Amino acid sequence: MQRILVSACLLGVNCKYSSGNNENEAVKKLAEKYELVPVCPEELGGLPTPRPPAEIIGERVLTAHGEDVTEGFVLGAKKTLAIAKQNLCTIAILKENSPSCASNTIYDGSFSGTKKQGSGITAHLLRQHGIKVYSENDADFI
Ligand code: SF4
Repeated sequence: MQRILVSACLLGVNCKYSSGNNENEAVKKLAEKYELVPVCPEELGGLPTPRPPAEIIGERVLTAHGEDVTEGFVLGAKKTLAIAKQNLCTIAILKENSPSCASNTIYDGSFSGTKKQGSGITAHLLRQHGIKVYSENDADFI
């Protein structure tokens, strides 16, 4: 069975910054067709759960208090890419709007809830290595 990479929070793992999850039935249903490989790039990057919310501002990832957490996000992206390669994953279903996992939209860096077009640090790195990245909104079509 083909393996696909999935944001762990979409499968109900409490790895979200708030220590909750983003459980999604359509994503869980993909287990009927694929072997799901759960990953949380931010935890892989050594960030704690719970952790302060962070947004992409220019080339950096910052918390609302201005703490620069870019290093953890980049490390998590690299570790996620390594897991994808180990498992021969060519497709990833990742959580939209996340500064790590977003494939289409991210928060704009103002911490006001405003979104803009963009992708997360991990999603971007995976795409650079030829992995097709989709969001939970595409789960019914994969
Ligand atoms: Fe979910 Fe990705 Fe955030 Fe981890 S980094 S909680 S997998 S959206």
